[in-house]
Amino acid sequence: MDTDVIVVGAGPVGLMLATELALAETKVIVVDALTERSGQSKAMSLQPRTAEVLDLRGLLARASEHAIARVTEGHFATIPLSYDGLGTRYPYQIGLLQWHLEAVLEERLAELGGELRRGWKLTDLQQDSEGVTAIGPSTLRASYLVAADGGRSTVRKLLGDPFPGTDATRYTTIADVILGAGTAEPPTLWASMGQTRRVNPDGSFASVVSLGEASLFRFVYFDGQTERTDVTDEEVTAAFRRFYTDEYELLDIRHASRFSNATRQAEKYRYDRVFLAGDAAHIHPPTGGQGLNLGVQDAFNLGWKLATVLGGTAPETLLDTYQAERHAVGKRVLDNTLAQGALGTRDPQHIALRQIFAELMKIPEANRHIAGMITGLGIDYGGEGHVGTRLPDFETGDGWVSELFHSGKGVLLATDRIYLEAAAPWADRIIRTNVPRLPWPELEAVLVRPDGYVCWSSLTRPIATALRAWFGDAE
Ligand SMILES: Cc1cc2nc3c(=O)[nH]c(=O)nc-3n(C[C@H](O)[C@H](O)[C@H](O)COP(=O)(O)OP(=O)(O)OC[C@H]3O[C@@H](n4cnc5c(N)ncnc54)[C@H](O)[C@@H]3O)c2cc1C
Repeated sequence: MDTDVIVVGAGPVGLMLATELALAETKVIVVDALTERSGQSKAMSLQPRTAEVLDLRGLLARASEHAIARVTEGHFATIPLSYDGLGTRYPYQIGLLQWHLEAVLEERLAELGGELRRGWKLTDLQQDSEGVTAIGPSTLRASYLVAADGGRSTVRKLLGDPFPGTDATRYTTIADVILGAGTAEPPTLWASMGQTRRVNPDGSFASVVSLGEASLFRFVYFDGQTERTDVTDEEVTAAFRRFYTDEYELLDIRHASRFSNATRQAEKYRYDRVFLAGDAAHIHPPTGGQGLNLGVQDAFNLGWKLATVLGGTAPETLLDTYQAERHAVGKRVLDNTLAQGALGTRDPQHIALRQIFAELMKIPEANRHIAGMITGLGIDYGGEGHVGTRLPDFETGDGWVSELFHSGKGVLLATDRIYLEAAAPWADRIIRTNVPRLPWPELEAVLVRPDGYVCWSSLTRPIATALRAWFGDAE
């Protein structure tokens, strides 16, 4: 074997996964076809759960150094969505360009000794009962391979996944542009984003938003396009003039591409020794800024599981929980983007539906429900006695509980030491801490997985059963 895990793709998902593996001292090689990171801005917001995920590994402060905004309101099909009352330390979207997040993760991977090979394009793969062989400019062999190679995933195609879903019916154009003042200065604050939005009665629209660097903006427009065609600078320039006349001046076009409303999800996230994560596993329109967040959390779910199984402690069946948990979460995000698409349709029925939906969203409980979906804070893997829910961060007197997760181990929190003693044989895999209180007063103890989700509580079965299921037999 050349390594334990090959990760195909050094986008945010592949890099997040690789840092998780490297943190657990699992050998990992990340390969990427590109010789350097794309300069296109792509995703630009971290939702609250992704901020928490980065915080669990001590990476949020580093990422936040590059933040260009904090947006305390989201939207659902452009209907305002409040982020209040969600029980998080980060009740806002963090404006962070995808390339900055990738740079932070790549730096972390290097610190942890993970390897990244650029200019290495996978063209084929083979797997057998012992491992996986990735074929590209060279041949690499590992116990497992994770496809984080984006929406057009070569790995997914090689596996023959049918990738069911709905086809694209509309194409929106997106360009990183340099703007100057015309009759007005282009606004540099995200809070002013609404000022630049233009919506026409025929459904065409445009907006301009600052990318946080001098004169660099994102220009997005939809003008009724239903076919995928190459984007030309002439077309972008003409569209800019149509929407903004002489209000701002378009000085340069850096990158231009299109995204569609195609919505698809891999049938299976696991093919024996090969896993799909991020856009390789699901594509949907960027409505509400969820794609990167969903993918990074796929990686966060899979990383510790792979590392634990490769470490020889947990049973191989632990890996099946990845499909069970993340396919359902992905489906839910796809559904909400489809619903947002419907609410944006401009015919009399949909306009009426939207009006009623907007009224419902003014009810605090309804707003929180939708916000739970968009922010990722509402994810619940199911179970009794708070099992399956995320552990909200809280202060113990010695600091924040999230700090206990920096090492990537499981955490047992108990108000009664008897539980800590019961888990002593797992001390190499679990951090055991006595706390004065828990977020749920009816509980005396919770066992939390390395990804921050409760996998046992003192209201459920004996702790040893849960420890064995999630972390393997005791030493
Ligand atoms: C314009 C735009 C705006 C967006 N806005 C948002 C937003 O606001 N919020 C949000 O959450 N999401 C947003 N998204 C979505 C987000 O960018 C994606 O969900 C995210 O990039 C997915 O990450 P990934 O790592 O799965 O895939 P990618 O970022 O696509 O990375 C895949 C990597 O795999 C490499 N690769 C591909 N094939 C091979 C191969 N055969 N061999 C080796 N390497 C290969 C590629 O070079 C690439 O580096 C946006 C996307 C776009 C395009």
